[in-house]
Amino acid sequence: MQATTHGEHLVKLTRLRAVNAYLVREEDGFTLVDTMIARSGKDILAAAQQHGAEIKRIMLTHAHSDHVGSVDELAQSIPGVEVLISTRDARFIRGDKSLDPAERQGKARGGYPKLKTAPTRTFEPGERIGSLEVIAAPGHTPGQVAFLDTRDHTLIAGDAYTTIGGVHTSAKGPLQFPFAAIATWHKPTALQTARELRGLNPSRLAVGHGPVVENPGDAMEAATLKAS
Ligand SMILES: [Zn+2]
Repeated sequence: MQATTHGEHLVKLTRLRAVNAYLVREEDGFTLVDTMIARSGKDILAAAQQHGAEIKRIMLTHAHSDHVGSVDELAQSIPGVEVLISTRDARFIRGDKSLDPAERQGKARGGYPKLKTAPTRTFEPGERIGSLEVIAAPGHTPGQVAFLDTRDHTLIAGDAYTTIGGVHTSAKGPLQFPFAAIATWHKPTALQTARELRGLNPSRLAVGHGPVVENPGDAMEAATLKAS
């Protein structure tokens, strides 16, 4: 696993060159954003230790298997760790893949594993947890969220964008591993989300797949135009 530091608060962890999770430094330890694919727990714990703090909470951007894959392993190995996910995507990790009547009836694509771990609590967009503000980012999944670090405007965008081979939205991205565009539930919603996230003017874009991008505004703008 590779670990790189971006700014004062963010460490990016990467496996298979394409699957990311993030350690966000808070006063009480790390918030881990996403958990990669299964069997990544040991390496994530080692990375946290190397960077000098314990993981206090796990916050999930969405319920796909390459983001929640090591939740069970980590929840078992970190006593008292909090596990948080949006109320909407919490249904997927309980094994309920149904869509609400009011939701666009796209197919819920991609792998949505059922987890043994129940979230310690769920959250809604607009809440703030530590330094991270929860931002609605539906489209890739019905309940995807992004996290905006209120200290430096780093945006952790889950799979609303990918940055492999340039910045793309998951409404229209490369149709190759890790399939963020293919696995997207509802593309018009994903595009609307991409526009809204661009409107936040993040200073730094950190995504589930691909490198961290500094000053990403223009590239995000171009990606939304390309997908329009
Ligand atoms: Zn993903």
